[in-house]
Amino acid sequence: MKQLHALVIGAGIGGTAAAIALRRAGLDVSLFEQTVAQREVGAGIQISPNASRLLGRYGLDEAMAQAAVRPSAVVFRRWQDGHVLGREELGDAIENRYGTPYYHFHRADLISLLADAFGRNEIELGGRLVDIEQDESGVTARFEDGTSARGDLLIGADGIHSQVRERLFGVEKPRFSGQIAYRGLAPSERVAHLGLPLEVTNWVGPGGHFVHYFVSSGRFLNFVAVSEEATWTREQWSDRGSIDDAAKQYQGWHPQLATILGAVDETFKWALFDRNPLPEWTKGRVALLGDACHPMLPYMAQGAAQAIEDGAALAACLKHSDFDIPSAFRAYVALRKPRATEVQERSRANATSFHLPDGPEQLDRDRLFATRGVRGSSEAMNKLYGYDAEVVAPTLEEKR
Ligand SMILES: Cc1cc2nc3c(=O)[nH]c(=O)nc-3n(C[C@H](O)[C@H](O)[C@H](O)COP(=O)(O)OP(=O)(O)OC[C@H]3O[C@@H](n4cnc5c(N)ncnc54)[C@H](O)[C@@H]3O)c2cc1C
Repeated sequence: MKQLHALVIGAGIGGTAAAIALRRAGLDVSLFEQTVAQREVGAGIQISPNASRLLGRYGLDEAMAQAAVRPSAVVFRRWQDGHVLGREELGDAIENRYGTPYYHFHRADLISLLADAFGRNEIELGGRLVDIEQDESGVTARFEDGTSARGDLLIGADGIHSQVRERLFGVEKPRFSGQIAYRGLAPSERVAHLGLPLEVTNWVGPGGHFVHYFVSSGRFLNFVAVSEEATWTREQWSDRGSIDDAAKQYQGWHPQLATILGAVDETFKWALFDRNPLPEWTKGRVALLGDACHPMLPYMAQGAAQAIEDGAALAACLKHSDFDIPSAFRAYVALRKPRATEVQERSRANATSFHLPDGPEQLDRDRLFATRGVRGSSEAMNKLYGYDAEVVAPTLEEKR
């Protein structure tokens, strides 16, 4: 059988993980990235067991354990006084339950270990896709510098402003959520006096929430501070932010938040966008994955995890279908769309719940945190974290 050649567009977390998965499935893979150096923002990222399980199979267990932090718990606190609203053990408890750790990474560390696993020198940097043409015998990617590449299939892993998506389905702007996130890193020694445990802490309050956790083997404390803003223009969807402006959003909140912000040298400000679920994820020889087809608000810490699952499932579907592209793509969409859509919708719902003003609804939410758990019921957690995206055959049988 002829070895299929896949062109993967975008060497972010989703594209690089997909490139590794496709190669493991036996495809010849070319990976293109528009920037001249593979880049990630200076911020943290949580990688839950549904994703670390897959990365472990890609031979990354040791590298992940070295680069990341294994948090002991996730804790939700009340905005004003730090009262603990709910707590879920992570650490050994989650590893024993799902057979693989929950990790916190500096994004640069995660992208770096993925690049090493694929082959850093094989990533075609400076390859900005501008057009796609496909016919019965293959698909051609055209790049801004006038070069082109031909393959059997093309995977658009080029993020929320995906050119691939636009080429397939036309222009449709993502939806501004009315929320913005300040992100940054504080050197751990500057916050040592706070005696913070290795937990991910979520402070929830009226119109905002604030998350912090350690990354880079504990060398930095990462924070994400989300607040509400009525409008945003596309041109400035990510920008250097002012620490004073960030601090203003949390006046009246527990003083620990101001201390963390005061320990940071710089902060970046992000407008948070998502999209309504797309009707289609594939067309002919082209498929989308990750933020290119299901960008989501970050309130379940699942965007990258779902992108990693997409790549693993796509590779498994190709193998399962004996590398028949149309049936592999049908199976991929049947498997992935319902799951990613559900996570997208749950992430949106958290945006409302985390930001409730004090009142009856907030009291109901807090009761749920205390009784049901902070990340949903045990059943919901099993469904999310216990999922193995490579085991496609039984799920496909179920869907028949
Ligand atoms: C504040 C915040 C916190 C988050 N926290 C978490 C978390 O804790 N856990 C989690 O799982 N997720 C989290 N996410 C979501 C996560 O960051 C994204 O879902 C994930 O990065 C998407 O990966 P991707 O590879 O699909 O897209 P991207 O990371 O956007 O990568 C796309 C890549 O494609 C390249 N590209 C774009 N256009 C072209 C082109 N025309 N040609 C070639 N290359 C191109 C880009 O340069 C980029 O490298 C968070 C998001 C935010 C905003």
